[in-house]
Amino acid sequence: MKRIFSLLIAGVFFLTWNASGQAKKGKTEVVISPYQLAVDHAFEKCKDIKEGKNADYIKELASVDSNIFGICIVTVDGQVFYKGDLDSRVSIQSISKVFTLARVLEEQGPKAVMDKIGVDATGLRFNSIIAIELQKGKEINPLVNPGAIATTSLVAGADSAAKWKSIIQIQSEFAGRPLDINRPVYISEAGDNLRNQAIAHLLFAYNRMYFDPVQSTDIYTKQCALNVNTRDLATMAATLANGGFNPVTKKKVVSPETAAFTLSVMATAGLYDDSGQWLFAVGLPGKSGVGGGIIAVCPGKFGIAAISPPLNEAGNSVKAQRAIFEVSRELKVNPYLVEPRTK
Ligand code: GLU
Repeated sequence: MKRIFSLLIAGVFFLTWNASGQAKKGKTEVVISPYQLAVDHAFEKCKDIKEGKNADYIKELASVDSNIFGICIVTVDGQVFYKGDLDSRVSIQSISKVFTLARVLEEQGPKAVMDKIGVDATGLRFNSIIAIELQKGKEINPLVNPGAIATTSLVAGADSAAKWKSIIQIQSEFAGRPLDINRPVYISEAGDNLRNQAIAHLLFAYNRMYFDPVQSTDIYTKQCALNVNTRDLATMAATLANGGFNPVTKKKVVSPETAAFTLSVMATAGLYDDSGQWLFAVGLPGKSGVGGGIIAVCPGKFGIAAISPPLNEAGNSVKAQRAIFEVSRELKVNPYLVEPRTK
């Protein structure tokens, strides 16, 4: 079944009652969900955008098809609305940081994350070394590389294999299916990630790395290479929207508190140094990855994802950002936008 729940067919054959209480046959009426309409409109508005360029500092990403473009919403009751490419898989990259953070929050609580990593935005590029130096390894937000590698190092597990098992498990539980690694992307990045290794070693020198720095960087690189499609990402976002309970598999993944803490960090640092601009425009917590995916979460309502590989200067997908902005505007889901009470 290609298009699941994409149309809400209401009143397909309904009976209406006339004034005398007599039943009569009504007409056929197809009501398209506002979610579907918003996704369709956003797709149309964004499909011809040509700006941006695939990431190429990870060589394998340069050859990913730049034309992949899909938008998907998964609601907290498990309905799926989409337009465009639902199935092509890209590497999750930085979006994985969200779910590893959720694992650590769930295992060790918010205080451990506050004390050992920090939750303030660095305001600097996602792989900034200056950001580490400025704070001597403190306040290295979990959603940019230094904090993310430190978060990976904090995941419970006696050795690298146990930590990796825990990470792939939590990412898969959020997605609602077993995820696998994009080997070419992993190999390409692992052979060329000296900067991330330097970050991990510098943190180690400041006693802010909680496992072997080489192995932590390797696990982090693997986690970034997990394959996801638009629907996987939307399901992951929807699980956060639904208080940590996956609305598709109907399984608890993390607690509502963990989901809330995770969303707060996404709101302040989800789109690298463009996070302020994102929140200003969209009003929803989001997270981007250099593979071209972006997720956003409308708490209590839905998760949304869009994939399109070409990125802007800050490393965010140009089309995916715009598409999610358009959907949020049409659905009026910015929580800061309220109808004033005048009486
Ligand atoms: N694996 C990528 C890196 O560490 C992730 C970056 C991203 O998506 O922002 O450079």
